[in-house]
Amino acid sequence: TSVEYLDLLNSPDTKFNNITVYYDGLNHYASFNIETQPPEQLPLTGEHIGCDINSNKNGWLVTSEGQNEFFDVDHDNQMIKHINRLMSKCRNMSRRWKKLEKRLQKWYNKRTNQLNDYIEKLTYNLVKKYDTIVFEENYSTIKILIGGEENMMFPLSRFIKRLKDKFQLYKPEADGVQFVKAHNTSRRCHHCGYINKELKVKTRNWKCRKCGKILDRDTNAAINILNRWFNGDSLK
Ligand SMILES: [Zn+2]
Repeated sequence: TSVEYLDLLNSPDTKFNNITVYYDGLNHYASFNIETQPPEQLPLTGEHIGCDINSNKNGWLVTSEGQNEFFDVDHDNQMIKHINRLMSKCRNMSRRWKKLEKRLQKWYNKRTNQLNDYIEKLTYNLVKKYDTIVFEENYSTIKILIGGEENMMFPLSRFIKRLKDKFQLYKPEADGVQFVKAHNTSRRCHHCGYINKELKVKTRNWKCRKCGKILDRDTNAAINILNRWFNGDSLK
């Protein structure tokens, strides 16, 4: 299915008249005949959150509440590596090679499906819990690294689009996805406003020289992002 239909398929208001599944020797396909109504809307919660996006091992998304998001595909990655190794030992295009290639494609598909599923659940849960989700402005070109040592690249713009879609569908009254300027979000102490000009990219935790607060780099950045929106500095 294309991602745009996932909300319809997941909605409790959708009635399935008919599902046809077919198999082309490699992939399974399903076609759905459905009747649907606009989904029941989610109530406003009065909760707002800032998000900092990362490409390090502390989680690809860190919130102003200190939550870190991980996506675990280690097992799939190991299988993909394993099959690649087996393939490198057989003759190109031999029968065994072709068989392994088919197996490899299955694991790639499985990994992609898991990632889509993960993104759908995460975006729904965020929209359910928060009325506003604030990011830094420079997101459209970012590819985030998700999961595992052999990381998967994922365009952040797709994640943002799925959040926007769900706000439109389930919470049209909410402020939804908002953006603020990216300037100094990591280097500024959210507690007193001091700017730490010496902060290195690798430094995960730092103590504010002015107020003494111990700061987690990503959580502090996410709080600054949220506060910028609270202060009316969101970009339109
Ligand atoms: Zn401070």
